[in-house]
Amino acid sequence: MRNRAPGQETPASVRVRFPDHIHIVDCYQCGKCTAGCPVSQDMDLAPNQVIRLMQLGQSEKAVRSQAIWACLGCQTCSARCPKAVDCAGVMDALREAALVHDMASPARLLVVSFQEAFLENIRRNGRLNEMELIGRFKASVVFRTGRLSFLFKDAGLAPQLRKRKKLHLISEKARDRKIVERIFARCSNRSER
Ligand code: SF4
Ligand code: SF4
Repeated sequence: MRNRAPGQETPASVRVRFPDHIHIVDCYQCGKCTAGCPVSQDMDLAPNQVIRLMQLGQSEKAVRSQAIWACLGCQTCSARCPKAVDCAGVMDALREAALVHDMASPARLLVVSFQEAFLENIRRNGRLNEMELIGRFKASVVFRTGRLSFLFKDAGLAPQLRKRKKLHLISEKARDRKIVERIFARCSNRSER
């Protein structure tokens, strides 16, 4: 049964668009996604409740939830679903909508700031530039909270990370940046207001 064409937006006030393979209506609320989710206890809405809200057309509640930012993107929910509902993909789409509509949960400011800084980093470089990521992330948090001390938080870990070759002062850029631009353009078309 389908009550919505693939890729079509939900009927609520907040527009959320899903990739074609996601069919929210197929969910019959068995709860297997939530039972397997490693962070469901830290969520204000369990994964199956997020799906249910979308079925009911209450997308704004889902978009404003903390749950979508607690999600690790581990794909366990999608792998366990007996109806092949890509719950992890739903979480992705909701995060995207939250950023587009400026509705990301203030309670998850650190995760939101990190995600924005990470995406901007990949958009600019095609691959991760760790120093740039750290700079943008910290500047964003300081700008939003006024907490100057955040600039130096975890700075003491840098020598250990350097020693283990986990922190690179200079990073390479992707050779074919056009591909990266095309990926971002395709995603932004899907999340247009
Ligand atoms: S596992 Fe699938 S069918 Fe079951 S509640 Fe989660 S999304 Fe719905
Ligand atoms: S992808 Fe997100 S919602 Fe799904 S099981 Fe992993 S953490 Fe939970």
